[in-house]
Amino acid sequence: MIPLPVLDSHAPALRVESLHAFAYCTRLYYLQEIERISVPHERVFAGRHLHAALEADEDGESVSLELASDALGLVGKVDCLRRRDGTHLPYEHKRGRPARAADNTPQAWPSDRLQLVAYAVLLEEAFGQPIPEGRVRYHAANVTVRVPIDERARDDLNAALAEARLLRETVERPPVTENPRLCEKCSLAPVCLPEEVRHEREPERDPVRLFPPDRDGTTLHVVGHGTNVGISGDSIVLKPREGDETNLPARGIDTVLLHGFSQISTQAIRKCVEHGIGVHWLSVGGYHTASLVPTAGQVQRRVRQYRALTNEDTCLALAKRLAGAKVEGQYRYLMRASRGDDEARDSIQSQLGGMVPILAGIPDAPDRDALRGQEGAAAVHYFAALRSLLGPQVHDDLRSDGRSRRPPLDRFNALLSYGYGLLHTAVMRAVLATGLEPALGFFHTPRSAAYPLVLDLMELFRVTVWDMPLVGSLNRGQWDPVADFVATRAKVWLSEAGRKKAIGLFEDRLQETWKHPVLNYSLSYARSIELEARLLEKEWTGEPGLFARSRLR
Ligand code: SF4
Repeated sequence: MIPLPVLDSHAPALRVESLHAFAYCTRLYYLQEIERISVPHERVFAGRHLHAALEADEDGESVSLELASDALGLVGKVDCLRRRDGTHLPYEHKRGRPARAADNTPQAWPSDRLQLVAYAVLLEEAFGQPIPEGRVRYHAANVTVRVPIDERARDDLNAALAEARLLRETVERPPVTENPRLCEKCSLAPVCLPEEVRHEREPERDPVRLFPPDRDGTTLHVVGHGTNVGISGDSIVLKPREGDETNLPARGIDTVLLHGFSQISTQAIRKCVEHGIGVHWLSVGGYHTASLVPTAGQVQRRVRQYRALTNEDTCLALAKRLAGAKVEGQYRYLMRASRGDDEARDSIQSQLGGMVPILAGIPDAPDRDALRGQEGAAAVHYFAALRSLLGPQVHDDLRSDGRSRRPPLDRFNALLSYGYGLLHTAVMRAVLATGLEPALGFFHTPRSAAYPLVLDLMELFRVTVWDMPLVGSLNRGQWDPVADFVATRAKVWLSEAGRKKAIGLFEDRLQETWKHPVLNYSLSYARSIELEARLLEKEWTGEPGLFARSRLR
């Protein structure tokens, strides 16, 4: 019999449920139990409803029971317990169908079996009597499978407990499972990205689409001066200074963005935390000032990030890829926007010509300082050309003589800066959702209130998520130089009407879908940002190669 290892009395007990994940896929166990990652998933909700129904069953036979063992370092709640011939039998209820042996007889799945064995051993300790078997009821097939609690079962449990505890000591994620079919039903596939890993290893293999095409919820922007965010039941309530309240179900919202001088109550913050809704504060100018997101269980992810991004070679390699993707994106956009327009192409030809040698020199940059210089030189050409993409119909007051950031000195720059502020928060959201430390980047230096890693990732999206829709909207005459701006001699910023317009343009763009040229599937820009954050993390978790590979076609 495999002996149990000596337990660390300070280590938290393992949950039996975690052993189910462990037997399903060790990586799933690691993500769920150690990194504490969870994703709302319809099968998980369905499972919870089934359990809730069973607990309500009062026929005298079915009960659920909390169990714990200090000796095993294990806790759990058995679905159902029945007495048969003087012995207790643990039952597990599953919605699906059983596995099948070679002769087609129904069997328990390995994960269900391990879970049941764990409950049986806990029950033996609690009742002081042997438990000879347990049963799993598969409701979709209307089949009950018997699981013997014999020596082999106990050995399997002890081996699993030992390995599960060992995994708690490491910061390295186990590899993706060799069985891709498991991933199709796994709630953590959007975080784990197993198909993307397989595609990188075998590029000719078409990945099965497991990453969601769009976000699960929407962003609530609170723009009105003095608007108060409160709660009522499970709804978020917006109370403007004047006018009617608006009630919005919390379940449909994944982010609350408080702009300028809007307020949020403590109760509303608590409700947001309960629902996993991130809350972010932005200044009137659109600059990110603070974020509140659930942060449990991120230490492993941050330790790996610190290890990787304190290595100069790793940082330089990532920075070259990022700068190359950024400048190529700018170049492609300029080419695309001036295609078929000889006048526009002529006016930006010298800028395009200036970008070509910069782009070619990026792979040979000796260090990050040199790379920043190249990226900056390309940006000068790009912004000079970008202004030339505005058609003759655009009002003179909406044009610009050059890039000015803090503060923006003209309306065009105010629009650019405001959109980049919104993008900063969208990227921050993705960085925090991925569990990365936003303050530790690989390209930007920590010199302002902005977070270097967020600034790094933003570089991949400035053109596609803001510059392109902004130039399009200016050319379509959607901006009013008077009503949408507040201008003084020292700076220009957006009025409330202008901010609402910019937010609408930005959110519409985030919802638009495009096809990832390497992974070959379509997804919204909102999801693209999250995808890149997760692909970046893979650069230092043993699955590199896909970060910053997407390009504007
Ligand atoms: S997606 Fe696949 S590899 Fe990743 S945790 Fe789930 S089952 Fe394991």
